[in-house]
Amino acid sequence: MSTIYKLEAIEDYIFCGLYYRYKHELDLPYKPISANEIFVEAMKDAVFIIANEWGLKRKHPRAFISDAAEAFKEKFSEISVNCRETDRLVELYAQGLISINTVLDYINITKDVVALFNYPIYTKCNDSFIESKLDLMVIRNDKNRSKREYEFVSFIDDKTYKYIQNYDNLKVGLARNFIEDIDLKLEYPCNHRYMSYFGHPRLANKLSKRYLNIALQILENAISMIEAQVYLPNSSKAKCNSCPFNKICDQRFVIKDLPDSWVDSIRKELNEY
Ligand code: SF4
Repeated sequence: MSTIYKLEAIEDYIFCGLYYRYKHELDLPYKPISANEIFVEAMKDAVFIIANEWGLKRKHPRAFISDAAEAFKEKFSEISVNCRETDRLVELYAQGLISINTVLDYINITKDVVALFNYPIYTKCNDSFIESKLDLMVIRNDKNRSKREYEFVSFIDDKTYKYIQNYDNLKVGLARNFIEDIDLKLEYPCNHRYMSYFGHPRLANKLSKRYLNIALQILENAISMIEAQVYLPNSSKAKCNSCPFNKICDQRFVIKDLPDSWVDSIRKELNEY
């Protein structure tokens, strides 16, 4: 049977092989230390509430905006205990609440419909499949019902990992690949937009087939390395500074068969932070 890899896990591998091992194979306690990462995680919860309550439950914006703001605040406080970037945290906390409160700039609550969110899509990659997500599909009824348009949306965290060229676009690329495949079978015209959690909407119209092929090649290479159990640490100081495992990270964890006592001891250490 083919193995299914989650895109988020492969992206973590591309960030750093050792990081992937700590997080996905050894399943170590994970508490983010980067303010940007905390912001994105909290915004994911808020977006989930907005899409669910607006799309499925058809609640009034007043209700879903306040629920989303509550979810954002709760997650933000829960996961920010290890972060020392106090100024940045304050700024992002405010920015998140402003973004949530201005969500009606993006949607027309009386006409638009959320048709899907967090929809899993699968891309074949050698003998495996990569699972990624279509974050949102909105049906625009702006003109009249006979002129509907489908708008697919991918959310990206373009500041957290901005130093990795094209990194964010792996998710956008797979979504675009999928949408292009189904485009001609859809009843209404569609477009694909990617939006940053930091509130800078952009049309994702620059992705070329060539880039998609490069993205698939990057993913294919990462899967081959994961299957060969190669866990190379990255060599970037900037990445290590924003990594929650930096206090326990040790190159000896690259070896294939780790003694249980080593893993128990780093788990204990991380739980104590
Ligand atoms: S501290 Fe650096 S090398 Fe170690 S897991 Fe984190 S990013 Fe990788």
